[in-house]
Amino acid sequence: MLDLILRNATLQDGQTGIDIACKDGKIVDVGKSIEGSANETIDAEGFLVTPPFVDAHLHLDGALTHGNPHTNQSGELYEGIGIWNQIKSELTIEDVKKRARTVCEWAIANGTLHIRVQTDIGDPNLIGLRALLELREELRPLLDLQIVAFPQDGYLRRQGSVELMAKAIELGVDVIGGIPDFELTTALGNQSITELCELAQQHDLLVDMHMDQTPDLCSRQIEMLTAETMRLSLGKRVSASHCPSIATFNDYYANKLMAQIAQSGMSVVVCPLTAATCWGIMTRVGELFDAGVNIAFGYDCILDPWYPLGNADMMDVGRMAVVFGRLMSPEKQARVFDSLTYGGAKALSLESYGIEKGCFADLVLLQARTPNEALRLQPPRLAVIRRGKVIARREKQSVEISGVGAKINVDFTLPKT
Ligand SMILES: [Zn+2]
Repeated sequence: MLDLILRNATLQDGQTGIDIACKDGKIVDVGKSIEGSANETIDAEGFLVTPPFVDAHLHLDGALTHGNPHTNQSGELYEGIGIWNQIKSELTIEDVKKRARTVCEWAIANGTLHIRVQTDIGDPNLIGLRALLELREELRPLLDLQIVAFPQDGYLRRQGSVELMAKAIELGVDVIGGIPDFELTTALGNQSITELCELAQQHDLLVDMHMDQTPDLCSRQIEMLTAETMRLSLGKRVSASHCPSIATFNDYYANKLMAQIAQSGMSVVVCPLTAATCWGIMTRVGELFDAGVNIAFGYDCILDPWYPLGNADMMDVGRMAVVFGRLMSPEKQARVFDSLTYGGAKALSLESYGIEKGCFADLVLLQARTPNEALRLQPPRLAVIRRGKVIARREKQSVEISGVGAKINVDFTLPKT
């Protein structure tokens, strides 16, 4: 007897009429007309079934603090950092966990079951980090939090950061962060990249640095990250987050750099929502796709000093990537959707991820027929499944219009041809 079977699903690659059989937390069969019965059967009615969404860059320690102690008036990164610095010394474990848990619940309801959490380690007591490490364990039955030790105030610039990073590693973080553009000089930024990459190699941890977070066309430290990734053979264990300055480079240098990023094997994590508020530019998503770079996406900020809205729905991020990146073709839009799932999984080095025999039985059923329709509609997630069990469920939605003739049900899909 199976635990769960989904019948008549459409997959991301366009296959239709697919059944997915789950047992003991794993997918045990994928194909047409699978025989056998299950404790629970879900009729997908031809709707899209995907693996869970991956939020590859989210700051949970500051989430839901918008307006405290005041609002970021310019929207710019550094005004936001100034506001955050006013409140981060007052954090308590309970407060951080309460806010972060709320956002995680939103994420689960939206089908996001993997989040890479950028966590500021500037506080000498590491309150935010300790809170999120606790939450990582408490929420493990529902979703995976991958914790980044992020030296927001600089790794070499701020006294004590090196020791705090060592402590964070001891406490059990998953990823080494960095912020080279915030170090005092370009040379010191490059030095921080070398030291942090070596630290990651030494402790067998992943790397994800905030890179070139500026529209300054002289901000070119990502080239150093590619060089160190290759020198230390870190490859796909490295991610470069943000990288808006690539948008400002001349085409010759940008093309050289994008080929180099692809060669290094690292991922680029793009956060389109805060790219809009913080810099007004987003890195070259379409061209990075063409260069063969793995792209993942992050929500980055939810109701905090850098972003005044947010609902933890990665469809919101995907739609902004399409619009901001002028990704007009259906093919490029489908690649955005792939980055919200498989691209994110690659950046986070997730294992047993996907819809194949042997993968974890983690699935999302959306009220949409194709990835492109999902990006357009941000549709209800009808079921979110973790290890073969439904952990979130929602009814199908439509709107009834009446007043002239027969009642009409609107579900925002295209007219049938
Ligand atoms: Zn960030």
